[in-house]
Amino acid sequence: MKLIESAQELLEQLWIATEEEAKPGLTVNGTTPEAIDELMRLGLAAREEEQITLTSAGLPEAAQAVRRHRLAERLLADVLATEEGLLEEQACRLEHALFDGVDESICTLLGHPRFCPHGKRIPLGQCCRQKRESVERLIAPLHELQPGQAGHIAYIQMNSPRRLQKLMAMGVLPGVSITLLRRSPSFVFEAGYSQFAVDEEIAADIYVRLAHD
Ligand SMILES: [Zn+2]
Ligand SMILES: [Zn+2]
Repeated sequence: MKLIESAQELLEQLWIATEEEAKPGLTVNGTTPEAIDELMRLGLAAREEEQITLTSAGLPEAAQAVRRHRLAERLLADVLATEEGLLEEQACRLEHALFDGVDESICTLLGHPRFCPHGKRIPLGQCCRQKRESVERLIAPLHELQPGQAGHIAYIQMNSPRRLQKLMAMGVLPGVSITLLRRSPSFVFEAGYSQFAVDEEIAADIYVRLAHD
């Protein structure tokens, strides 16, 4: 569904308010009238006095909009090495290019990331549920690699800051070369010049930019 940019923006804000901040919706203050009109015309949002809420048709549409935004951030940060300060602005532009299944190709390419670079959850797409492999992946979580597969650490998932700090303190850092050596009984990998053994949960947090030859 193609929306004007301000309506797209409002749709995302409504989803964040509803799903992440446990608010019933947003007040009309600070929103643009044409964005509200567009969402109401399409049946995606409803207005009651000063309050705007998502309709049941609007909810999945809004989740997809947030998903495209956060995937765009991942793509910009991990593949295009965009500076942190430019992420937000560039992601807002790029998300509009991720319509019609392109988001699924990008998501697959990036190994179906679960969090954006800010640590916010990326809503699942069809591709994540089916783990579809329609394109060759650039990035994959370590626990999906086969022994002998190598690459460089792209990023480490942000959902557990303490675990992240621990790994980084041991030299497991973005940019460091990594090779998976064994998958069981634990995941043994070489990063830089050291070997590490971790459980599957931690291996799933380490995203590897795969070496293709
Ligand atoms: Zn983000
Ligand atoms: Zn996916």
